[in-house]
Amino acid sequence: MTIEGIAADPAEALLGDYDVVILGAGPAGLSAGIYASRAGLDCVILEKGIPGGQVLTSPTIENYPGFPEIAGMKLMENMAEHAKMYVDIREGEEVLRVRGGDKFEVITTSGRYTSRALILATGSYHRKLDVAGEEGMTGKGVSYCATCDGFFYKGKEVIVVGGGNTALTDALHLWSLGCKVTIVHRRNQLRADKHLQDSVVQHKIPILWDTVVEEIIEGNEVTAVRLRDLKTGKVHTKPVSGVFVAVGEVPSSQLAAELGLDMDPGGFVTVDRSFRTNVAFVYAAGDVSGGIRQIVAAVHGGAAAALSCFEDLMNPYYRR
Ligand code: NAP
Repeated sequence: MTIEGIAADPAEALLGDYDVVILGAGPAGLSAGIYASRAGLDCVILEKGIPGGQVLTSPTIENYPGFPEIAGMKLMENMAEHAKMYVDIREGEEVLRVRGGDKFEVITTSGRYTSRALILATGSYHRKLDVAGEEGMTGKGVSYCATCDGFFYKGKEVIVVGGGNTALTDALHLWSLGCKVTIVHRRNQLRADKHLQDSVVQHKIPILWDTVVEEIIEGNEVTAVRLRDLKTGKVHTKPVSGVFVAVGEVPSSQLAAELGLDMDPGGFVTVDRSFRTNVAFVYAAGDVSGGIRQIVAAVHGGAAAALSCFEDLMNPYYRR
């Protein structure tokens, strides 16, 4: 109810009724939007930030077919522009709650949507190191995005923590910006692609093996980290200006939990080959559904989820 002069609770305003609401505008959500719209479904994509998801933070992508080398931000700009040809993307609109029932109800920071189906493409967020000083120094030298913050560390000593594809891609990016970069990895083996490992060797980027960050020294800005050698147990202080954390991703599956979706122990939504979840008319794709967590996989998942959704809602003759 609206009383004149008093703003209504935004959650009361019905902003649209759709066949399908897509949650998230990363590669999975954008792909789902393109496929769902082109199949004839009336849909909208809700995105709490700007379209692109985690890929926005990747300095360079070298394994998306058709693009031998492209900045993550550019690739996602292209994808979003393409999706906007078909589907409305509501940016800056965070989904607060979802509810099942005769129709799904999606409550956002701007209002309420109803739909016959939902596609979850909520992605993942950066895992934290969980060490002393990390929280307090975030934004003062601790960063989770080399693309966004690397520029400020030109000529300075920085470490990248992690041994996966993100850590090595970030280390190479920081090196190319002119940072004095060292990789700190908890084991004596990297899990990143061999191509990236070869590049790190070729660029002579040092790696501290079997080493963990024990503490990030607090102050006005990062000046040093305390590192522990896991083999010897020795702790030493390394002066650095920047700590780039790249230790993996955690699925954004809170909304999935509200819907009662099955998840694995890591919190990734369980889906079948067609990206259907255990709840009828709810699909999940991209990082939130686990798997190999590649852009190509997210794009595939979004498309497959949209086509499964189309089949379930329209029950086309060739599936009966
Ligand atoms: P990831 O592959 O899960 O690697 C995380 C790294 O961080 C691992 O080396 C892990 O060590 C380490 N780690 C985890 N927790 C830690 C902790 N608490 N302290 C210290 N180290 C810790 O994560 P990612 O590199 O972010 O990649 C995520 C996904 O995106 C992957 O599937 C990846 O292939 C994909 N990706 C692909 C590309 C590409 O293809 N170019 C680029 C970026 C990301 P251990 O090795 O000891 O477990």
